[in-house]
Parts: sequence; C-alpha cells; structure tokens
Amino acid sequence: MKNNSIRILGVKVNKVNMDGAYNSFLAFMEKDRVSMIFTPNTEIVMKAQEDQELKDILVDADLVIPDGIGLVYASKLHGLGLSERVTGIGLMDKILKYCNSTKKSIYLFGGKPDVAKEACENIEIEYPNIKIAGFSDGYYKDKDEELKIIDKINEVKPDILFVALGAPKQEKWIYEYRKILNTKVAMGVGGSVDVWAGKVKRAPEVFSKLGLEWLYRLIKEPSRIGRMMSLPKFLFKILLSKDFEKEEIEI
Ligand code: UDP
Repeated sequence: MKNNSIRILGVKVNKVNMDGAYNSFLAFMEKDRVSMIFTPNTEIVMKAQEDQELKDILVDADLVIPDGIGLVYASKLHGLGLSERVTGIGLMDKILKYCNSTKKSIYLFGGKPDVAKEACENIEIEYPNIKIAGFSDGYYKDKDEELKIIDKINEVKPDILFVALGAPKQEKWIYEYRKILNTKVAMGVGGSVDVWAGKVKRAPEVFSKLGLEWLYRLIKEPSRIGRMMSLPKFLFKILLSKDFEKEEIEI
C-alpha cells in the first residue's frame, strides 16, 4: 500500500485522513511483524527538535498520524496536503470497534495503577466482544519488572498492544522492544487511557470541530500551560522555517 509522508520541522508525518489511517491499520493486521503507530501533536514535534532519537523513531514508524491542529495549520501554510487532524483517540476507537467485530484481543500497558484496569473495564462495557488479553500499569520500578511485563504480554499474544507511557517514553519503549513483542500492532496512546478510565473528559465536539481541543484541555487542566507553550513556539517556528518535505514511501 502506498502512503505519502511529509516532514514538518524535520519530523515525519503520514499524509492520511482517518480512513487512510484505518486502512493502513487493516494492512498491518495482515503482516507477520509488529507495526508501530504513533500520534504526534505539536508538542511532540517540538520535543523532537531536541531529540534526534525520537525523530529517527518516527521515521521508522509504520504510521504517524497528525494528532494536532497545529500540524494541520503548518500543512496549510506550506501546502503539504494534510486534510484533517487525525486523533490518536479517534483511531483507537476505530481499532477497538474492529476488534469488537472480529473478536480480536488487546493489551493495555500504561497509566497509573488502577487506570489501566478501569480503562479495560470501560472498554469491555462498550465493546463486549473484545478479548481483553491483559493490562499492566506504566509505573514499573526497574528493568526486571519491565521484562516481566513483556513476558506477560508475550504469553497472551494480544492482537493489538496499546502503550500509554506518555510521549516520548511510549515511542521509545515500543521501538526498543518491537522485535521481541508478540503482537501485530503496537500503538502509543498516551492520555487516551485516562479518558477510557473516566479520569479525563474528552473535549466536547464543538471544541474539536473548531480546532480548539487544546483550549478545552487548558481550561480543565491549567497546570498544562507550560507544556502548551510549545504550540505558539511551534507556530512561530513554522512561519520562519523551510524545513518541510513531501515524499512517497511504501508501507
Ligand atoms: N504514564 C505511565 N508511566 C510513566 C509516565 C506516564 O504510565 O512513567 C502514563 C500517565 O499515567 C498517563 C499517560 O502515561 O496515563 C499519558 O501521560 P501524559 O498525559 O503525560 O501524556 P500525553 O498523552 O500528554 O502524551
């Protein structure tokens, strides 16, 4: 399958809408290796400016969706062709629906103790045919505990592994272990696990439609102001930068 990718400030993003992203996911389910899906927003693109390892991981990823309205603005300004924001939580929903109708299994790794469990319980209520293969919280103490989590995942061989360790930890974790994980798709889902656990509310549709989800999050969690300063910094940078590329890759 052909899937265009572009570079925004040197960071790879696939030129997909939600349908394209979902079709890529379906193609990954046919492969005999782990496919990696990541969902960067402007904050991650800014982090990647000082983190070459993160940049390289995104280049190597099988699908990188534009999960930030700032990325869509950047694309509009520089004619890169992103048609819409594709959210990680939205793609996760579509994957969960697919798992429900095909009786596939998932494993949820990450979130505070109880959050992964509560998220799984709520997913099961919404999608009763999904097989919850297992869950683990994301606060392991050392390498030993980390390897035990990997053993637990590999024992149950989930079709999909959702990893919620926050960015860029989850991207680095998936990348480091991609060759030994017994799953078809590993996706970084960040705070979506908190939404599924009912700890954080999804932005009402009116905010999402206007591209103001960030404003809703800021109202709800004012302590995020420091992190959110990356958005104006990003917008300023894209006005000045010429670091954009369009290219075609096979996935
Ligand atoms: N998290 C975790 N282990 C860690 C750090 C974070 O499990 O060592 C979890 C955290 O509890 C939260 C999720 O990762 O449920 C996403 O964190 P954050 O909101 O920082 O990430 P974002 O979605 O904004 O990238």
